[in-house]
Amino acid sequence: MDLEKIRKDAEAFTKELDEEYYQNLAGFKDELNISGIYQKYGYLFGREAVDYVKGLRDSAEGEEKRQLSLLYSFMAGEYISNITAELDEKFMTAEAKATVTVDGKEVPYRSISSLISNEDSRERRSELDALTDPVVDELNAILKERMLKLHDLSVELGYKNYIDMVQDLKGIELEPLKKQMEEFLRDTEKVYVDAMNAALEPYGISIDEAERHDVSYLFRAKEFDPYFPKDKVVDNWKATMHGIGIDPDSQNNVILDTEERPKKHPRAFTMPVEVPDRVILVITPHGGQDDYQSMLHEGGHTEHFAHVDRKHPFEYKYLGDVSVSESYAFIFNYLPTDDLWLKQYVSMDDTEKYRNFAFLNKLFFLRRYASKLLYEMELHAKRDIDGMDARYKEIMEKGLKMRHKANRYLLDVDDGFYVSQYLRAWIFETQLRKHIIEKTQRDWFNSHEAGNILKELWSYGQKYNVDELARMIGYDGIDVRPMRDEMVSALRR
Ligand SMILES: [Zn+2]
Repeated sequence: MDLEKIRKDAEAFTKELDEEYYQNLAGFKDELNISGIYQKYGYLFGREAVDYVKGLRDSAEGEEKRQLSLLYSFMAGEYISNITAELDEKFMTAEAKATVTVDGKEVPYRSISSLISNEDSRERRSELDALTDPVVDELNAILKERMLKLHDLSVELGYKNYIDMVQDLKGIELEPLKKQMEEFLRDTEKVYVDAMNAALEPYGISIDEAERHDVSYLFRAKEFDPYFPKDKVVDNWKATMHGIGIDPDSQNNVILDTEERPKKHPRAFTMPVEVPDRVILVITPHGGQDDYQSMLHEGGHTEHFAHVDRKHPFEYKYLGDVSVSESYAFIFNYLPTDDLWLKQYVSMDDTEKYRNFAFLNKLFFLRRYASKLLYEMELHAKRDIDGMDARYKEIMEKGLKMRHKANRYLLDVDDGFYVSQYLRAWIFETQLRKHIIEKTQRDWFNSHEAGNILKELWSYGQKYNVDELARMIGYDGIDVRPMRDEMVSALRR
């Protein structure tokens, strides 16, 4: 085994894979030839190479240990993906092929959720939701087999359980985060329940009667569309970037792919194909407040990768704590909760109604992810998952105060405690924004100095995790309290 060769190949593999995904998702080609790329670099994800890098990591120190930790985490992750690939394909195929019968017509299972969020009749939404239950049962059989395999793999790799493995691979502690999120759930409960009841009142339902389909309908929020026209999505982002001293049109390394193509994936994404020299932001603008938020979000990822120091090794440019890049995406994503930004950038004079909506929407997601974290800490604590469907329902209902279906207990889970990385990003984003405002001005998005603070942080890539970055800007580490205070004061009535 040769470490330098492993590093070079891991970098080449990552770039080839990103390029292939970009070509497919952007709608340039139908096929997705990733198995060929995996075969070409297969040895990287064999047990021998994974154990070799782990051994080197365990005896390394300082900078070398930091780099090797990221490399090991990446290789172990791909080792696991390789083993679950067959079940993943089985799941994707079953999900893509599944249909339900609506009014005598066959409708793809995957399109039901958008039918639900656009359906005005509550009874009808509930019927549509119930139609998916047999499909969910079928998918659960595959997901259960896959989950048990993941739990077994963590033990095979020498860990006590799945939680232990994720903590080592990602270099994070989940128990302290769980404690902070329990505190957050407790402290925001009253404002959440009151705001949710007020939002549901026009539909004649209270929070304890509400179901998931009611909330997806509620958050569709068509009424704000006039402020967020389709033809201004990209210009709005460019103008916001000008405010912090960045001119996207003069950045040769930033490529905006905004063209409409029939096979282009509808969801916006960022593909850092060559960091920092070729970063592609892919979006097909459709307008509406969520689209503006998506553009600002992906723009944050794009500017982050476009400002990474070219001299960094591969590990810091492409791997690392994903919470870091998510924080930079969130800091722009949530500009539409700022009344000064709304007035300046979308000419909204009376911002109260929209801001209430936007904060409630954010708090709902924070509480949902906090509850998911509590649930997943139980789900992954032991090999067996019997009875976890009932626990899912209990924990989610306790956190969100509305009805949940037990049968979503596996569909609602992402691998590797991704939920914790989002939570850490949300927490750090609030701390970072507070820091930038203290150093510059209340409307930080009009300050070139704010842009300079971000550019310096961006240059590190994902070398440091969000705990280290929080300490770097004067905190004791990530701290949920600024986010809690912001939510409580925004929604208190
Ligand atoms: Zn993101």
